[in-house]
Parts: sequence; C-alpha cells; structure tokens
Amino acid sequence: MRDVVIQQVVQTIVGYIIGMTEPDEYLGKGEHDVLLWAQRIRLAQRTVPSLLSFIGINSKGLANNLFHSHPTLAGALIGGHYPTLSNLISTSIDPPTSISSFAAWELLTAHIVFHYLIPTLQFSLAILIVDTWQYFLHRLMHTSRYLYTTFHSRHHRLYVPYAYGALYNHPFEGFLLDTLGAGLAFKIAGMSTRQGMCFFTGSTLKTVDDHCGYALPFDPLQRLTGNNAGYHDVHHQSWGIKTNFSQPFFTFWDRVLGTKWVGGDVSARYEKARIAAQKAVDLEISQKATITHSQPSDSSTTPPGALYENDLPPSSHLASIPAAHKHPQPPAGKAAFQAAGSRQQILDDKAGGGVQVLMAEAKEERAAEGLLKRSTRMRAKSSSKDTLAGLRERVSVGAHGRGVGVLGMESGR
Ligand SMILES: [Zn+2]
Ligand SMILES: [Zn+2]
Repeated sequence: MRDVVIQQVVQTIVGYIIGMTEPDEYLGKGEHDVLLWAQRIRLAQRTVPSLLSFIGINSKGLANNLFHSHPTLAGALIGGHYPTLSNLISTSIDPPTSISSFAAWELLTAHIVFHYLIPTLQFSLAILIVDTWQYFLHRLMHTSRYLYTTFHSRHHRLYVPYAYGALYNHPFEGFLLDTLGAGLAFKIAGMSTRQGMCFFTGSTLKTVDDHCGYALPFDPLQRLTGNNAGYHDVHHQSWGIKTNFSQPFFTFWDRVLGTKWVGGDVSARYEKARIAAQKAVDLEISQKATITHSQPSDSSTTPPGALYENDLPPSSHLASIPAAHKHPQPPAGKAAFQAAGSRQQILDDKAGGGVQVLMAEAKEERAAEGLLKRSTRMRAKSSSKDTLAGLRERVSVGAHGRGVGVLGMESGR
C-alpha cells in the first residue's frame, strides 16, 4: 500500500513539474494550428511545377487546359495559385497584409493532418519510446544481480499479480522506469497537455489491466495487442521470470531479441495451481462448517472438498486438457534454458524468499497433481466463491495462484 501510494505521489509531482514546463494553451489554438498546416500545404505546392517538369510535364500548359473544368486542380498544378479564391486583408498583422484564402481541399487536408495524422504519429512514437525504455531497463534489472535484488525484486514479490500490484515497485524503480519513461515519451513526442492526459491514463490502465490476473473475454485491452495479462503473468512466474520483459504495449522487443517465453501453452500449469487454490478455499469452508455446527468428528473423516461430493458434475473440464499438458514440463532446448535461468533468478534473490519460493511452489504443484490423480470429479467452481471467505482466499492466492505462503513471507519482512 505504502509503495503504491508513493509511486502515485511521485507521478503526480513529476506530472505537475512537466505541466509547468509546457507553454500556455489558448482557446482557439487548434483552429490556428489547422490554418498553419493549410499554409504549409500551400507552400509545399510551390514545388509541384518543378517536380512535374522533372518528369517532363509542362504544368502551365496542363493548368491552362484544366482551368475551366477543374480550377482547383489547375491552381495546385501551377504551384498553389488560386485566382478564383478571394483574397483577405488581415488587419491583425501590421502592416495590413493580403492573404489568399485557402481552398476547401487545403483546409480539409490540414484538418486531417492536425487532428488525426500528427496525433497518430505522436502516440505511435510515444508508445515506441515507452516500450523501448521499459524493455531495456527492465531486462537490465533482471540481468544485474545487484539491480534485481536491490530494486526490481520488490515488484516480483507478486508471484500472483493483482491490479494494485501494477504500481507496486521500489520507489526508485517506479520513478526510473514508469514515471521518467512516460515523461520522456510525452516530451519527445511533443504532446499537448490533453494528449498527455490520454497517454498517461491509457498507460496506467494498460499496466493495471495487465497485472489484474484476469483475461476477461470482454476486456478490449486484453485483445488490443499480444501484450496482455496472460503474457505478463508468465513474467511473474518463477519459471518465466527471465522471459517476456516487454511492457506495457507491444511484444516486439521480446520477439526481436528472443526473450519471449517459448515453453508453449501454460494453461494446464495454471489449472493445477487454480485447483490448489480451490482446495485451500474448500478446506477453509469445511473447517468453518465444522466450527459452526460443532461437529468435530466431521472434519476428521471428511476430506476437504467432500462437502460438494453430491453436486459434483460427473467430470470436470480438466478432462478436456490433453494428457501431455497436464504435467507441463518446459520442453528441451530454449524453453528449458529459459526456465533454468528463471529458477536461478529466484534462487539468487535470497531476501525475496529464494529457495523457499520454489519449495512452496513445488509443494503446491505436488498437492495439485495428487488431487488431479485422485479424482477428475473435482468441482470446477465452488459454491463458496461468493462468500467473503472465498473472496479473501482468492485474493490472497490469486486467480491461478501460488500459495498464501509465498505472499505470506512478504508480510513477515
Ligand atoms: Zn521483471
Ligand atoms: Zn509486473
């Protein structure tokens, strides 16, 4: 909570400072800028006659032929002279100056350039800058043992990402990667304050969404690019921590530089972890029921989960997972290398749990595996899911989570 609030405060202060360095914005500046672009378009037309003569076309002759049928086209061909358009006298300029009014096509093009083309280029550039900044610094955080254990391992206390954790960083790392990266992108892309508001808000929404632990089918942010909750979640796993560094918009740096997770489908691995989480919920519910009804003998004879024996479906959706995926081991080759590197990173981070994290995880996987073997009738959804206890448990172990033990270590620090 403290670190998330600190990052918000830092971002607000930096945002305020950046805002003070921006020029004042005036009402009607947009219209002025559209006219500025119209003027540039007019000036650019001066090159048309020489360009045409370069490929052997006499622009004057052509313009003469077209003048009566297509006066505007003729005007453009001779270098932006439109004798049919009225000339305005601008009295706001000293001395009063004659200004030719713009053709409709010039104003329309200027409008499209100013309101659509330039902003698209600015947002694309800003996204490219943020993605590049984040990728290389993030990867460096995982390459240098000092940087990882001192700064970045704090964010990786989240083996089960959840929305608040998106901005859960060491204050220095939060400033360097998130705040400074986005601020530089804003400045270099020359965005207006309004554009900046959209960009910063959009980036924040994206990173919160990518840490929320859910890939909901109706969430547009999850479908916009390949970089989504599923993608970043792999990076938060002990076996994928040395992969999927790209954040927050696109995955191209991972693809270009070969750091994308190649271990294939990880859904079965999550499924096992989810069952372990479910087991913990069921256990708590059965214990609660025991206390409420004062029937201690029940708890000793009833295995966890048996509360729901009667209304279990004949077989759960686990049956639909191919056998090969039920025990997902990273295949040989690059994926094995990635998994080994990730494992080493966890082991190196002794302050963050080190070997204990791997032990807790292995214990959970074993428990889940045992559960899978014992019964394919494991209930997919528990009726406890709407109870407060169920909710609390799901929050602490996450959507497909690691055990409470892993997160528990952090509260003990
Ligand atoms: Zn990381
Ligand atoms: Zn993260």
